[in-house]
Amino acid sequence: MTLAPCPVFIGGEWNRLNNLSTTPVHNPSTGDVIAEAPLCTSQHVNDAVEAAAAAFPAWAETPPTDRARILFRFKTLLEENFEDLVRSNTREHGKTLVESRGDVKRGIEMVEFACGVPSLLMGEALENVARGIDCDTIRQPLGVCAGITPFNFPCMVPLWMYPVALVCGNTFVLKPSEKVPLTSIKVVELLEKAGLPKGVLNIVHGGRECVDALLTHPKIKAISFVGSTPVARYIYEVGTKHGKRVQSNGGAKNFVLLMPDADIDNSVRGVVEAAFGCAGERCMAGSTAVVVGGAANSVLPPLVEAARRIKIGPTDRDPQPDMGPLITRQHRDRVAHLIETGAKEGARIAADGRAIKPDSSPNGFFLGATVLDEVQPAMTVMREEIFGPVLNVLRMEDLDAAIDLANTSPYGNGASIFTCSGKAAREFKHRIKCGMVGINVGVPASMAWFPFNGWNESFFGDLHMQGKEGVQFFTQLKVTMSRWFSFGEGDVWYRESKK
Ligand code: NAD
Repeated sequence: MTLAPCPVFIGGEWNRLNNLSTTPVHNPSTGDVIAEAPLCTSQHVNDAVEAAAAAFPAWAETPPTDRARILFRFKTLLEENFEDLVRSNTREHGKTLVESRGDVKRGIEMVEFACGVPSLLMGEALENVARGIDCDTIRQPLGVCAGITPFNFPCMVPLWMYPVALVCGNTFVLKPSEKVPLTSIKVVELLEKAGLPKGVLNIVHGGRECVDALLTHPKIKAISFVGSTPVARYIYEVGTKHGKRVQSNGGAKNFVLLMPDADIDNSVRGVVEAAFGCAGERCMAGSTAVVVGGAANSVLPPLVEAARRIKIGPTDRDPQPDMGPLITRQHRDRVAHLIETGAKEGARIAADGRAIKPDSSPNGFFLGATVLDEVQPAMTVMREEIFGPVLNVLRMEDLDAAIDLANTSPYGNGASIFTCSGKAAREFKHRIKCGMVGINVGVPASMAWFPFNGWNESFFGDLHMQGKEGVQFFTQLKVTMSRWFSFGEGDVWYRESKK
């Protein structure tokens, strides 16, 4: 059976572009092809940008409160359709229903944040900066903005971008990951239903050609990107070269320090969730555990046991497993190959997920939870972002050595420590070189009201997504100095009143 390509949304019209090359979208639990994503060309991107540019003047003039009211309706519709979005998310991504609920919930929180953005759009004013002269600032939208998103949070990551961009008065072109375009389409259908005017938000699908057309289009003012570091760097370099404002989130390798005094049950639970939640396909995955001193004897054995107990299976049906499949067969094979490379380079496979296959779904892209112990900093598994259910374990003598090790990472999204010592936690928080820190929290991904705060090669740009920085990214400041010499017609009254 041939599947029709997913529709694009341009100028308020949903359109299936036939006669284009497509790329398959899978249900990773079964391996079945469930949709075809069209590979849009620069012509389609141009159509979408022109539609967004045409919609911009009227949308920018719409009062911020009216723009926010559309987002309030959008939030209600997202809540009413919550389970439908959750199932769509799980079907095309493969994460469990519980994990998809988290994905959709965090997306809705971004819309809640965006509903309150009008107060963040307010400027500042100072009277009498010089005699009779006042100064004030206002925030204005940029114009047409674009968003390019990864596969791993089909609902949440696009919602990091366009709700804030739109409420600030911009129009938008979204290119979701070609691996998971379906949930984005459902979400945008709800925004359309909430009353968004035609052309304010547009969707195109595709890969590199489509992205390059966005990066170089003269009418696009700003680009938000989330994805792997090599592509994030490319987006930043090409986008800024073409005069655009760019915020570009890259990959990561996040360290979790386990101190000898860590609460064993809570830290095991925290690390298992951090390493294997969403099958490790998270930029905030705690993929590297550093066991410090005696933690190698207290925390590590139950941690390995807990990893061995993780049940994998298809997520598109009941009963739900603990962990679902990886996104594609190629990615599954790449992660399995990295595990073998780790073993060849001297790591010890303490829990081996490679042979685990659920009988109920033989063609799904499954890989069980794996723990590589005795990993060394120079190994391939330490240099590459694995992005799968693999936990590297390194052993260090003390906190100093563990922090120094974590700080050699070229990335800088997040790091956590499990300890009962306030002094150790404080030292860690102060010295660790990354932008999101967890203390007895495995995955310190910041909430909508705070910046999603990558450092180093996990972020290219100046202003992060989420929070006030997100609003600053999608607006430009205007500073006005004003002085008035006469009252005009009021002058008569003024002169009279002074007599
Ligand atoms: P990816 O970089 O392969 O793709 C991301 C987007 O870029 C997709 O829309 C894709 O179509 C496009 N793309 C891919 N290759 C391209 C190229 N050569 N030129 C132009 N565009 C290209 O990432 P992915 O595999 O979809 O997602 C996983 C990655 O995203 C991981 O590295 C993960 O750490 C990262 N990620 C980062 C964050 C963060 O906030 N830092 C959040 C989620 C995911």
